[in-house]
Amino acid sequence: MTTEKEARFRSSLLEWSAQNLRDFAWREPNRSLYEVFVAEFFLTQTPAENVASVYPTFLERFPSLDAIDEATRDELVEIIEPLGFYNIRADALKTIAAECDSLPDEADELSDLQRVGQYVANATLCFADGEPLPVLDRNVERIYGRVFGEEWPDSPSDQLQFATRLVPKDDARTYNLALLDFGASVCQPDPLCQRCFASEYCEYYNQTS
Ligand code: SF4
Repeated sequence: MTTEKEARFRSSLLEWSAQNLRDFAWREPNRSLYEVFVAEFFLTQTPAENVASVYPTFLERFPSLDAIDEATRDELVEIIEPLGFYNIRADALKTIAAECDSLPDEADELSDLQRVGQYVANATLCFADGEPLPVLDRNVERIYGRVFGEEWPDSPSDQLQFATRLVPKDDARTYNLALLDFGASVCQPDPLCQRCFASEYCEYYNQTS
């Protein structure tokens, strides 16, 4: 059960999202699980703008895991080189394509694939299928830590529980996209608190202003 403050943050964030979500090709409606996975896989440790520059070419050349399986590693590298970590990423994609006919639609199975992990698995299933899973990276941890102060737990498993509780079951996709964009544009490492809907009740703001 969410607290009053948690419910307030959630509804303000959803309201904020109506005007502020960023447009990216992988966020277009009806993207398949595979297409969303490709984006989330590349977005790890890579700016969205870099991923956007290779995403359409990659999907055109490799529209499925089968296409990756049939390609050589060099053919993958040729396209993903601008993203960095291209050898590691190409090897992982080749391994995944060799192991799977299609991507698993269970978070535990998806996260077990090479170089995937819980964040990419949850983001993929939430953004492709609307699964109410928490999408918890360092930026989201920063937001929750600031807004909720001591209520934000220390242990990763408690943080996961806390974050899961906040995800609205009926609009998980919008909520999680909004968290990512709020962290990128307002609650940045150097936060823009004057422009923030949460300043009235944000622990960080109230302790530092
Ligand atoms: S008030 Fe500042 S620190 Fe708090 S959530 Fe907003 S931007 Fe982040």
